[in-house]
Amino acid sequence: MGVTLDLSRGSSAPTAVKPNLSGLTRKGLAEALVAAEVVKPEKAKMRATQLWRWIHHYGVTDFAMMTDVAKETRAALAEAFSLTRPEIVERQVSKDGTRKWLIRMAPGIEVETVYIPDVGRSGALCVSSQVGCTLNCTFCHTGTQALVRNLTAAEIVAQVQVARDDLSEWPSPKEDRRLSNIVFMGMGEPLYNLDNVADAIDIISDGEGIAISRRRITVSTSGVVPELHELGERTQAMLAISLHATNDALRDVLVPLNKKYPIEQLIAGIRAYPGLSNARRVTFEYVMLKGVNDSPAEALALLKLLKGVPAKINLIPFNPWPGTDYECSSWGAIETFAAILNKAGYASPIRTPRGRDILAACGQLKSESEKVRASARRKAPVEPPEAEGIVV
Ligand code: SAH
Ligand code: SF4
Repeated sequence: MGVTLDLSRGSSAPTAVKPNLSGLTRKGLAEALVAAEVVKPEKAKMRATQLWRWIHHYGVTDFAMMTDVAKETRAALAEAFSLTRPEIVERQVSKDGTRKWLIRMAPGIEVETVYIPDVGRSGALCVSSQVGCTLNCTFCHTGTQALVRNLTAAEIVAQVQVARDDLSEWPSPKEDRRLSNIVFMGMGEPLYNLDNVADAIDIISDGEGIAISRRRITVSTSGVVPELHELGERTQAMLAISLHATNDALRDVLVPLNKKYPIEQLIAGIRAYPGLSNARRVTFEYVMLKGVNDSPAEALALLKLLKGVPAKINLIPFNPWPGTDYECSSWGAIETFAAILNKAGYASPIRTPRGRDILAACGQLKSESEKVRASARRKAPVEPPEAEGIVV
């Protein structure tokens, strides 16, 4: 789909793309400098450390800004590499302060990233790990998308960099940050792209760079049980599990991956998650679907299932999308369900829907804005893609 758009642009001869340094791990950065013969092997580590601060602490996208690097070296770097950000195809800001960017990583590879402000200055960035998803949860719009590819570590990090640019949050503030947390709850299943997700977390959490602590990074999974241990070992990230049902018969329908890794195996895997404790609880996500999983009996079943697991519960009001047969539970049903959990000691379990006016809510990512853009295009059929512009 998007591919056709971009191919129609390129009539001139293709120009060689310079490797981009801004999404490499520390090791990858040192290796790239040596491979391009810009830096001698014995100086690679030192030079990489110096560049790292400019790229990830100051957020620069121009080698000329690196004032403590010799002029000739800066010129050689600019000759061999780039630091440019991917193109922002669309930017929207909701009445409630939620921001959403549609970012074009490559021709046809567009991902959405959402910033959700919290009370005070802090806020969470919801990043995507794949374009589309192979898992087909029946209530999720992302699962209906045809195009699927893993995002690279650089493409995941770029989402954070784009948000930081837009929030004017360079150099990396020590405290009082607007972008204080990262959640892997955008498009895709992060545990099907663990290598890149782990590298991205290494980059994002590095103390001399973006410096968002691993305890403020949450990875949400639909339950790829065999990868849970490695996720914990490699990333020390907080874990969120998309549970949505308390018995296998229903979870098989809502989250078909459950047929492969049923609830009992899932809970066993969670209990063994490295670092799990009362101070580092797992978050259980539970989408509220009218007449499907929202009865008081199911709230009690949920409590029983989670007994002894250090847990938080997030009730997510279902976000409907065109063509879905599911409906969101009534507010009364959600409150009754939440009250049962509250009574058992789970605090404020309802996740308030944010950014609904800009279609920034869970499960609506990407496909909805494709729809909006398509209808905008229909109204102005001769407009070239460049004219899609920025929507504020
Ligand atoms: N694939 C991962 C992470 C991305 S989905 C996972 O499934 O956990 C992030 C969260 O949004 C998940 O809890 C998912 O179940 C939820 N979600 C998906 N579609 C939704 C919808 N239409 N309404 C509400 N929540 C939805
Ligand atoms: Fe994929 Fe998560 Fe959506 Fe399921 S809920 S289809 S795993 S993105």
